[in-house]
Amino acid sequence: MTKKKVLITGGAGFLGSHLSDRFIKEGYRVIAMDNLITGSLENIEHLFGKKDFEFHHCDVSRFIHVPGDLDYILHFASPASPIDYLKMPIQTLKVGSLGIHNCLGLAKEKKARVLIASTSEVYGDPLVHPQTEEYWGNVNPVGPRGVYDEAKRFQEAMTMAYHTFHGLETRIVRIFNTYGPRMRLDDGRVLPAFIGQALRGEDLTAFGDGSQTRSFCYVDDLVEGIYRLLMSDYAMPVNIGNPDEITINQFAEEIIRLTGAKQKVIYQPLPEDDPKQRKPDITKAREILGWEPKFSRAEGLKPTLEYFKGKVGG
Ligand code: UDP
Repeated sequence: MTKKKVLITGGAGFLGSHLSDRFIKEGYRVIAMDNLITGSLENIEHLFGKKDFEFHHCDVSRFIHVPGDLDYILHFASPASPIDYLKMPIQTLKVGSLGIHNCLGLAKEKKARVLIASTSEVYGDPLVHPQTEEYWGNVNPVGPRGVYDEAKRFQEAMTMAYHTFHGLETRIVRIFNTYGPRMRLDDGRVLPAFIGQALRGEDLTAFGDGSQTRSFCYVDDLVEGIYRLLMSDYAMPVNIGNPDEITINQFAEEIIRLTGAKQKVIYQPLPEDDPKQRKPDITKAREILGWEPKFSRAEGLKPTLEYFKGKVGG
């Protein structure tokens, strides 16, 4: 029997590389595609020797060509951390609009099923808590985060249009804050920022008064949720994240305890439009996919810390 083939855009990124690992493990042929503006070959170098793995260095926003059959397309290409999309606003908008259009066109041609990486950012600075998939969000289209939030919202709309108009099989995952090995130490997100600071002997920089909340999901849990969603027959958006909510202050204290750091927390201005609270309602994932996170923060932070120890000063 020929193996099923999956295209993963952003395949050299944090999530894309973990998904590549998972699909190789499940016995698929994997094509990882990346333009490497935020992804890194280091994340997938262990896959290069495998006969079922291919890497295509290209920009999904321009044109994508894949010879032969294709069963699944996972669109994970995009700058995804606030400082990355502030540095690359046009590329972020393009990959969420032109990029998804190319993926959907390819999927139509190949009769492939598409899963897109959407985000909790579609809820903006949410006025409903925890966030359910029915909530439409509170997004500032012209604020600094608008380039990411609106690209992802457009991406959902475009995907739904291909689903309803062309009958394409589509899946939408709304990903909440996720962490684990292969995050970039300098991507600006709170977890690599705090761990990097703790390990380098610097004070931890909490933005605002540190009372804003986030809910952190370990990458293996996320990948399991995505895999189940892809294999399901559910076309509406599904939140995947860990509902264990904590303030940024509590998180800083946790990292200080975990690393044995002696430094303190210092406060810096809150970035514009920074969401005050975020926690997924995962009722749909539980009921439709039989999924819920298995890793506590304590369990997920262990391998993550080990990974970052190898990167700091390395
Ligand atoms: N944050 C912080 N210090 C940092 C980096 C981020 O206090 O060095 C805060 C940020 O203001 C936000 C939260 O941590 O409230 C999570 O930020 P992140 O960049 O990880 O992603 P977001 O969830 O905002 O997309």
